[in-house]
Amino acid sequence: MALLEGQTGVVFGVANKRSIAWAIAQALAREGMRLAFTYQGDRLKESVEALTTAHMPGSLLLPCDVTNDAEIDAVFQRIGEEYGKLDALLHSVAFAPKDDLENDFIQTSRDGFKLSHDISAYSLVALTRAALPLFEKANGGSVLALTYYGAQKAVEGYNVMGVAKASLEASVRYLAANLGPRNVRVNAISAGPVNTLAARGIKGFTGMLKHHAERAPLRRNVELEEVANAGLFLLSPMSSGITGEVMFVDCGYNIVGL
Ligand code: NAP
Repeated sequence: MALLEGQTGVVFGVANKRSIAWAIAQALAREGMRLAFTYQGDRLKESVEALTTAHMPGSLLLPCDVTNDAEIDAVFQRIGEEYGKLDALLHSVAFAPKDDLENDFIQTSRDGFKLSHDISAYSLVALTRAALPLFEKANGGSVLALTYYGAQKAVEGYNVMGVAKASLEASVRYLAANLGPRNVRVNAISAGPVNTLAARGIKGFTGMLKHHAERAPLRRNVELEEVANAGLFLLSPMSSGITGEVMFVDCGYNIVGL
């Protein structure tokens, strides 16, 4: 029997076939999990619909801008009606305004700071809270967020996104501590750089890929499938004793000093 047979999950953050969320979703579906997907606005609906129709027909597709509480409520209402419970939630969403990424960090605008924290960090709290009643129907749940090394060290060009990721990582720990007694686990993967739509918004991203590949102990960049397999592990009962962790999947880049 597949590892996740009978389980249900919701995936936030598929933009296209290169998205980390799509890679993790494929690993979850391979193991038998039924999935719901959300998309932000009609612009992305077509792309997500094309992927799910081709690879996971019958998946639920729901609109959700994570800054919109009414849309968040509607997503979980619909999942409740359709699945009756929820076992897993994947948060693979981040945004920062272009200017705030490109300018010197000292120039970060108040609005850019607020928006990047709202979308990239607060949304984890809002989504997890909305999922709680459905996790309870499943006697527990597992939540996974995606983060990057720039949360812990100052990485050139990552700027306000690094500060938002630091908030995301702290939110993972506070949510894990708060929800552990309800058997809800919350973890994050800190992925090495992967060439996606969001990544291309980071100035000097190609140089970053090259630098990581040269310095990482495995002397290469991480593959999407490797992030997906780690995501499968953290969202499945295989990791039942792990919560509040930020797990690096970066070919070891983070452990190197000089
Ligand atoms: P991606 O394919 O561009 O995914 C980012 C997703 O976030 C997109 O689907 C995007 O939708 C969505 N999003 C942005 N604002 C949103 C909002 N208000 N409401 C709902 N969704 C919204 O890029 P990715 O690299 O796979 O990113 C996924 C996660 O991995 C992010 O948290 C990212 O920071 C993290 N991560 C990426 C890397 C990397 O090198 N790629 C490394 C470490 C961590 P729109 O396209 O409509 O904005």
